[in-house]
Formats: sequence, C-alpha cells, structure tokens
Amino acid sequence: MEELEVRIKRVKERIAEAALRKGRNPQEIILVAVTKTVEPERIMAAAELGIEHFGENRVQEALEKIPRINFLLPKPVTWHMVGHLQTNKVPKAVRLFDFIHSIDSVRLAVELSKRAVSLGKTIPILLEVNISGEATKFGFHPDEVERAVPEILPLPGLSVQGLMTIAPIVQEPEEARPYFRALRELRDRLAEKFPQASWKHLSMGMTDDFEVAVEEGATMVRIGRAIFGERR
Ligand SMILES: *Cc1c(COP(=O)(O)O)cnc(C)c1O
Repeated sequence: MEELEVRIKRVKERIAEAALRKGRNPQEIILVAVTKTVEPERIMAAAELGIEHFGENRVQEALEKIPRINFLLPKPVTWHMVGHLQTNKVPKAVRLFDFIHSIDSVRLAVELSKRAVSLGKTIPILLEVNISGEATKFGFHPDEVERAVPEILPLPGLSVQGLMTIAPIVQEPEEARPYFRALRELRDRLAEKFPQASWKHLSMGMTDDFEVAVEEGATMVRIGRAIFGERR
C-alpha cells in the first residue's frame, strides 16, 4: 500500500474506534481532508482513494486548485471552506465551496446570503464559535451566538447546519475535551431554542485532537497532517 493509502486507512480506523467507544455509528462522522498547501496531484490521489470531502482555508489558494481538480476528477467531491472568510472574498467563495464552516459574523452571513440568492443556490453553513475565548481566534463569542442566530436564520440562500470550533493548542488531546463538550452543549441549547434550523453538525477535531472530538460528538473532523504529512 502507498503511504497516503495507509494514512487514510489509519485515520478512518481511529475515527471508527473513537465513535464505537461512545456507542456512536462511525458512518455518521464525515472526514474532511484539509488540503491547504497540498498539491492538486495528491488531492486527486486522495479522492481516488475514496476521500469525498476536502477542506481549504484560503479563497485564493482554493481558486487556484478547486476548479482544476473538479475538472479532472471523474466523480464530484464536496469542498468545505474551513478558514476565516473575509466579506470581500464572498463572491468567489460562494462559487468555489459547497459548505462553509466559518461564518463568524452577521455581516458575513448577510453578504453570503445575497450572493447565494443571486446564484440561485442554498449554501449549508456552520457558525464558528470561539469557544475558548482566545483573543487570536475568529468566531462568535459563545454569549454572542444566541443573539446572532435570530438574525441569520431568516436569511435566504443559507442553511444553518450547526457549529464549528478550533480548540486551543494543548499538550495532551485530553485537555481539549472541555472545549468540544462546551461546543456540543451550546449546540444542544441552540437546537432547543431555535428548532427551525437543523443543528446536526459539529465540526470539531483536527490531527492532534480528533479522537477526543469524536468522543464528544463531532460529526465532521477536519484533518490535514495525519493524512498528508507535515506542511511545508
Ligand atoms: C489546517 C486546518 C485544519 C487541519 O489541521 P491539521 O492539524 O493539519 O489536521 C483544520 N481546520 C482548520 C480551520 C485548519 O485551518
């Protein structure tokens, strides 16, 4: 087996083992392979090995890669925007991506809504929450989301599907658990208060902490290095 194939297989096994530890169905967890800095050839190789979801974090890089890859792939894949999205990049993002994980302001949601409507699209989105409150991170403050939701839900062209977070960098994956748990609890509260949206997705967990995230209810894990190796 090629190295990439071994890595993908191992990541899938680790996701399944974490899910089963909590009595969850491994099938309900979507593996998003994060391909920032990864060359199109290796992305194509991963798609040929069965990866169906890919994530990029910068619109400019995505613009250089996604159309070309989509053109060459025999079967369509789903592209996820996982990085911070600037309002002025929305017109490009809305054409490139199928799913946006990083809605972090009402203003951004309004802009995305306008663009989605003008393309006749409905785009699934997640609200990014800065669950740890670190100053360096993007995302709604946990107290702020509840106020933003009633402004975002009625916007046409958007479909709110849940929440996303990036846990702080920690020494041990276990230390990230409280943040993942807090995101799940916040999601549960929002689902109760705003039952008109789906809230089914929790996008959380990366190379260093995805097993803990799955144990805490992640439905999407965003994994780069464990699949493609260290970034340059
Ligand atoms: C790069 C990135 C990932 C993947 O990180 P790894 O540690 O390589 O798994 C996940 N989410 C976001 C938002 C990223 O920018």
